[in-house]
Amino acid sequence: MEKIIVTGGSGFIGSNLVNFLLRRNFFVINIDKLTYSSNKLNIKNKKNYRFFKTDINNRKKIFNIINKYKPSAIFNLAAETHVDRSIDNPQEFVLSNILGVFNILEVLRILKKKKKEIKLIHISTDEVFGDIKKSKERSDENYPYKPSSPYSATKASADHLIKSYVRTYNLKAIISNCSNNYGPFQFPEKFLPKMIANIMKNKPLPVYAKGLNSREWIYVEDHCEALLKIYKRGKSGESYNVGSNKNMKNKDLIKSLLKTMKQKKIKIGNKVKIKFVKDRPGHDFRYALNSKKISKKINWKSKTNIKKGLSLTVDWYLKNKKFLSTIPRVYYEKRIGLKL
Ligand code: NAD
Repeated sequence: MEKIIVTGGSGFIGSNLVNFLLRRNFFVINIDKLTYSSNKLNIKNKKNYRFFKTDINNRKKIFNIINKYKPSAIFNLAAETHVDRSIDNPQEFVLSNILGVFNILEVLRILKKKKKEIKLIHISTDEVFGDIKKSKERSDENYPYKPSSPYSATKASADHLIKSYVRTYNLKAIISNCSNNYGPFQFPEKFLPKMIANIMKNKPLPVYAKGLNSREWIYVEDHCEALLKIYKRGKSGESYNVGSNKNMKNKDLIKSLLKTMKQKKIKIGNKVKIKFVKDRPGHDFRYALNSKKISKKINWKSKTNIKKGLSLTVDWYLKNKKFLSTIPRVYYEKRIGLKL
């Protein structure tokens, strides 16, 4: 049975990826330090699954786990991920997103010297390209990196470090730069689950600036499929953009969400109204990926349109009310990310 390590396997995308790989008969080892954004649902005992509560910065433990299981690949999703938190406290982001990646690379370098070669699939973001302001422009893999937030800057740094290890030490590594994910298990500090949680509690819907910011939305299961294909067919040293090609302004996304919830006969209370709030410092207006490379070279395309994806997402949050009810509202009610 093929073994895969997923770091950050208790976070949003990681939880989905662990389940996705288990369904495809991989043996999955999840390494996660269980920060505030992780969920405990995925650490229960499952068949063909092991969990280690470990920081990716812990050189000895990471070495021992990799050396013991000898996986064919490591999917690195362990990271600090909320842009607003990176504005208030960039240090955590540097530690996990840069030094954590450096640590994994060093362990892989040591193992390579011992003739144990393990492929790294590193999960990065479209935010490394910064603002793509022109409405028809989309960033391809050769677009210059121009990160705007401490979060995206740490992700960009890790991408550069990884490419240097491929070039200098001939390590096997591939980077995926993905657009905004949505779906089951997403922590409610992020846009869509926050809106779902507030609609369910008859609360206003806080939206930055005028709600005109545009993001490219991808259903998380489509991202998981792309990652497996990148691992199987991708070329070491290369980056692959992973997007749906579907951009939406935040206020339009809220309208679609409200429509989906009404269709499911969810009562929309009188306080559920868009409330524009002060914008995030340095906020990028638009991200948009050109994902032709992954489509041509790897034969992957996102399958789930926004209507279907929103319906699946809402169904999941309705069926798993415990997921939201066990997260203290202070994590997503209090405005953060304005410190200058
Ligand atoms: P998340 O915040 O939901 O999960 C991150 C997980 O990593 C958590 O379980 C946390 O406990 C763990 N973690 C953090 N630091 C760690 C450390 N030092 N050691 C071990 N575990 C640690 O994030 P997510 O949205 O699932 O994102 C996963 C990855 O995908 C990140 O690298 C993120 O940059 C990238 N990404 C996310 C999106 C998105 O829309 N969510 C888009 C593109 C790329």
